[in-house]
Amino acid sequence: MVFASANSPHRIFPSGSRIAVLLPLPLAGAYDYHVGAEPLGEGDFVAVPLGGREVIGVVWGEGAGTVDTARIKPVTRRLPASPLPEPLRKLVDWVASYTLAPAGAVLKMAMSVPSALEPPKPLAACRLAAPPPGLKMTPARRRVLDTAAGQPAMIMADLARAAGVGPSVVKGLLEAGALEAVGMAPPATFATPDWARPGAVLSPDQEVAAAAAVAALDGGFSVLLIDGVTGSGKTEVYFAAVAAALAKGRQVLVLLPEIALSAQWLGRFAARFGVAPAEWHSELGDAARRETWRAVASGEARVVVGARSALFLPFLKLGLIIVDEEHESAFKQEEGVTYHARDMAVVRARLGAFPVVLASATPALETLANVQAGRYTRLHLPDRHAGATMPAIAVVDMRRTPPPRNFWLSPPLVTAIEETLAAGEQAMLYLNRRGYAPLTLCRGCGYRFQCPHCTAWLVEHRAAGRLVCHHCGYFIRPPRLCPECEAEASFAACGPGVERVAEEAAHRFPEARIEVMASDTLAGPEATAELVRRVTEREIDLLVGTQIVAKGYHFPWLTLVGVVDADLGLEGGDLRAAERTHQMLSQVSGRAGRAERPGRVFLQTFQPAHPVMLALTSGDRDDFIAREAEARRDAGMPPFGRLAALIVSGPEAAILDAFCRDVAKAAPRDGDVSVLGPAPAPLALLRGRHRRRFLVKATRSVNLQALVKAWLTRLKVPNGVRVQVDMDPYSFF
Ligand code: ADP
Ligand code: ZN
Repeated sequence: MVFASANSPHRIFPSGSRIAVLLPLPLAGAYDYHVGAEPLGEGDFVAVPLGGREVIGVVWGEGAGTVDTARIKPVTRRLPASPLPEPLRKLVDWVASYTLAPAGAVLKMAMSVPSALEPPKPLAACRLAAPPPGLKMTPARRRVLDTAAGQPAMIMADLARAAGVGPSVVKGLLEAGALEAVGMAPPATFATPDWARPGAVLSPDQEVAAAAAVAALDGGFSVLLIDGVTGSGKTEVYFAAVAAALAKGRQVLVLLPEIALSAQWLGRFAARFGVAPAEWHSELGDAARRETWRAVASGEARVVVGARSALFLPFLKLGLIIVDEEHESAFKQEEGVTYHARDMAVVRARLGAFPVVLASATPALETLANVQAGRYTRLHLPDRHAGATMPAIAVVDMRRTPPPRNFWLSPPLVTAIEETLAAGEQAMLYLNRRGYAPLTLCRGCGYRFQCPHCTAWLVEHRAAGRLVCHHCGYFIRPPRLCPECEAEASFAACGPGVERVAEEAAHRFPEARIEVMASDTLAGPEATAELVRRVTEREIDLLVGTQIVAKGYHFPWLTLVGVVDADLGLEGGDLRAAERTHQMLSQVSGRAGRAERPGRVFLQTFQPAHPVMLALTSGDRDDFIAREAEARRDAGMPPFGRLAALIVSGPEAAILDAFCRDVAKAAPRDGDVSVLGPAPAPLALLRGRHRRRFLVKATRSVNLQALVKAWLTRLKVPNGVRVQVDMDPYSFF
């Protein structure tokens, strides 16, 4: 990789010169325009004509000169917004060339709030004017004038409220000339976090890690990994770095995998710094997006906590990025521009010449390989805070002590739950499957309910009275008769989802207060926060949940975690299946015994000797990762080799398969490259489109981007067929 310095001079293009303007559209590249009467600078937002309409883009540099000068059109106008900062422009180019997405498609992510480019509307305010002769006075009017008398200017609605009158009274005085209208800039809404407030008193290990992170702020670009067991205080440690970066006048970006589920994190931030951080995620409303975008660009928003898309915000002086739970696959965007936010955060830090801090209890194998290669610095927190011990993890061999038929909780787990509840403590049951049952079939003829648009069974959601496709959202009400053999009441639910486990728990522990926590049972961030509060305040005894219960929550009274099906993530040919299952189960286990009371974890498995189970029970993560790394090195798989996927999809299988034969024929042939496929993707049919996949594997010395690009240019893609490139693919669905 070649990186330009963080501060190359800002270029100005005089009137009449030829410039390249990148548009937020999936075009092949930037288009050329002429500068109008006013000179323009790199990064300026401009409106330009494009095929009869006006589009807003960004001045990207000098024109390429490939188009006839006479045909080039002038820029219509410059927008009154500060230019897109240079490091962000470089990031756009970098992400585009790495992922092979059109640069305009990447720019679109950096221009996600077009309305923020126009100046904020001044608020309608007014102040006292010279009293016009013959003004009709009423008691209400009197009160308004008295209220306005002592004020420089007031927002009209505020004035009416302060005077205790309706808005029409103020309007009447304005029309009569007793008040005059003035524009008022909207007040600042992003308070500055108070970095001088004292944080937690750090333990010696935490102190060492925090000091290293703080020192890194003076050293330009670097990558630090806080590798600490669950509950070791990783958040407290990186808060110290956040405080130090703020003290230096920098902005800070904190990336969390699922910001909508981060109520506890937000509370901790506010407790530490006295104010809430700016948030950036898909649930924000339009006005909030606009204000946040502007406040990030002006530097007013000092700390932004966000999902991966926050990387593309126009920070004025970004000087530290934290990536919490850096191993999370949620950081990989799977649609559109397929980038990995953790990796691109490292690129962004490099472009801005500042440090990035990754934090995890189970760092990604890629990250640990970078530590081993000396590229990243590891800060280790081996113990839980305040003497809390790590939970005792045991496997339950489901072949030896199975639950009764059509039950899912084994006798040892049931006993442990009873003990926990009797002690007045809390338990959690984890199963990463929403709904009641993953498969419904007819006992008479074997008919199975399947999605007509996807290669998937319909999942029963009993509470909602529906059979639902978890891939496209298609659903039906369960019919009375079997669609095949017309038998009545013949359906059998096969396998458990969280609803079914909760039903069993209610049956076995009738006294317990039980709650289900899954993305479809929670109405939104507020409902989530409320449920978290109820668990924290011990209004719930037993929580049954999917992966969203596993994420970072701190429940001091939770002492037992039961994993209903520890084998669930292990099936399938996914390169990272074992690594991910280990991460997920470590994370879930980490919810147990985080305070004074020690925790226990029961893993129900049919494979008690699987390396993942052994690693969890022995606690020897490093040995497990070393073996995984060994296997990947032998197979030439990432991070020791390079991998790209081509997903080819289309509505008609015959056309698609014919095209796939062309793709295979045009595949690169080279000793350091191997191409696998076409293979039907595991979801061979998704939302009505057939899908095939090619995998390209190469040694690290190969320029995979150039190779794939050359391959694509050799193809003639039929109508309706789409070819998607996924560099470093994570998910093989
Ligand atoms: P991790 O992110 O490593 O899982 P957290 O940062 O969530 O750990 O810390 C676990 C719990 O311990 C939290 O409640 C946190 O407030 C507390 N904690 C950690 N370090 C300290 C400290 N130095 N002083 C006081 N409380 C701490
Ligand atoms: Zn479907």
